[in-house]
Amino acid sequence: MKKIYVSVDMEGINGIVSPAQVGTKDNDLYREARLLMAEEVNAVIAGVNEAGGLAVIGDSHGSELNVPIGVLKGDFLLCCGEDKGLSMMGGIDESYSGVIFLGYHARFGTAYAIMDHTYSPSTLYRLKINGKEVGEAEINAEVAGYFDVPILMATGDDVTMEQLKKSFPTIETVTVKKSLGRFAALCEPVNKTQEKLKEAAKRVTHNIEKYACIYKSEAPIKMEYTWNTAVMAEMATYVPGVIKVEDRITLYESDDYIKAFKLFKVFRVLANSVSNSSYL
Ligand SMILES: [Zn+2]
Repeated sequence: MKKIYVSVDMEGINGIVSPAQVGTKDNDLYREARLLMAEEVNAVIAGVNEAGGLAVIGDSHGSELNVPIGVLKGDFLLCCGEDKGLSMMGGIDESYSGVIFLGYHARFGTAYAIMDHTYSPSTLYRLKINGKEVGEAEINAEVAGYFDVPILMATGDDVTMEQLKKSFPTIETVTVKKSLGRFAALCEPVNKTQEKLKEAAKRVTHNIEKYACIYKSEAPIKMEYTWNTAVMAEMATYVPGVIKVEDRITLYESDDYIKAFKLFKVFRVLANSVSNSSYL
């Protein structure tokens, strides 16, 4: 049976446009948003199941405990909770046939994209892998690529889909809302979105070869970080092997992407320890 890994984030779900909805505080808006997220997950599970596949859902946003399992239907497994190893790709390995990025968003610094950021908006300004500027989709796609698992599909706002089409030219994209700004969008009815998601998930699971995009950088992997502040870069240099290129820019080089990806988390924790909401 084909196993499809579905990494689900929150900012790219239809109807979600504001930080108030994505769980920085537990409120009615967040509780509603979790259900919107779960219904898009249900649509993807249904499509994958109709094509004879098993959907493994990786809850990939914030606490990684957003999708309420009780409302999910069909044949699925839910990978949830923090510290599941590979962050937004927790649980993935070479046994998977493909990956779907559901509810994804553009990288930090993208104009007119809903809640654009790259993992940590308070610390990370830009990340380049082997010279190419990347966002969460590419960073996570490298994890899948490490196991030779292809990306098949991505969903989110129109600006994000345009950006991801450039990185993954063969994949299916589903636009679920039109960005009007960083925190505003024109949203279609959710049942329409769900129908589109189900059909697209079914299509890509059926025709993996047609949509497959293996995303994998050649070793050595050079990860160049631009931090929001110079002290964040300074913290990163506490890790052996990290070179400071400029006041805010650090470089880490590795032969192994998974090792580099795990250090990415260490760097973010270090940078976060010196971040200050009034001064960044
Ligand atoms: Zn995200």
